[in-house]
Amino acid sequence: MKVISSREDLRHYRSMLLAEGGTIGFVPTMGALHQGHLSLVEVAALACEHVIVSIFVNPTQFNDPNDLRNYPRNLEKDLALLTGQGKTAVVFAPEVEDIYPEPDLRRFDFGPLDKVMEGARRPGHFNGVAQVVSKLFSIVEPHKAFFGEKDFQQLAVIRQLVMQEQSKIEIVPCPIIRESDGLAMSSRNVLLSPDERLHAANISGILFQSRELSTTMEVDLLTAWVVDQLNNDPLLQVEYFQIVDSITLMPVERWTQAGEKQGCVAVKIGKVRLIDNIKFD
Ligand code: AMP
Repeated sequence: MKVISSREDLRHYRSMLLAEGGTIGFVPTMGALHQGHLSLVEVAALACEHVIVSIFVNPTQFNDPNDLRNYPRNLEKDLALLTGQGKTAVVFAPEVEDIYPEPDLRRFDFGPLDKVMEGARRPGHFNGVAQVVSKLFSIVEPHKAFFGEKDFQQLAVIRQLVMQEQSKIEIVPCPIIRESDGLAMSSRNVLLSPDERLHAANISGILFQSRELSTTMEVDLLTAWVVDQLNNDPLLQVEYFQIVDSITLMPVERWTQAGEKQGCVAVKIGKVRLIDNIKFD
């Protein structure tokens, strides 16, 4: 496994991989890797001959400076995990100056996609995500890129980005990987105290129950039920729970509406903010 930090070296190594034949799969991450990230690498390795993983904590997507400062970083451990898995050809771990030699002033317009849920609560977040993904895509030029459904809205925004940039990169969604008690794996989980960690499992627990109840409860009542249940846990504070169309992310009013539906939630536990989502069929 080759570890590369400069974009020139990455471009050079990429041509060497392509000369061997086959396709390139790309898994962009912010590091602090866990099984969720490794599952993306696994899927990429099944679909492509060469896998490139990037590790880059992108400053432009953090609307909260404290969140950026506290974001867990451990490159050595990340490299050990990827080496152990044995599926990654290249790790691209650039410095901020490599990605942003000058400030990126681009302002993307994703219509309503980045205005709801996370977009409404984290101003500029998806613009920063689009900036870094667009830059990484132009450096790595993969055939396919792999993103987790854990960040459900991000996936919708990236699909839109690729369409707007008329890129041929195929975006491959990958299922959410969870801890044994149901908590969606996240780099931020390590920031939870032991007590908070125990209570955090209620998020997915309540989402799973809501899927059962969706056969008998209307959308508005179920939405209120989820919010109440989560807020009943003294350690949890709901920012939003919304049932939306999986593609447009517009609110769903009735189960009989056409299209797949997703319940998306953001919850604060102490200082940590976690997101999760569930598909309603
Ligand atoms: P991050 O490092 O948090 O930016 O995440 C990098 C990629 O890993 C994104 O595509 C995430 O959606 C994905 N990811 C993070 N956590 C999970 C998880 N629990 N299951 C599946 N994918 C995940």
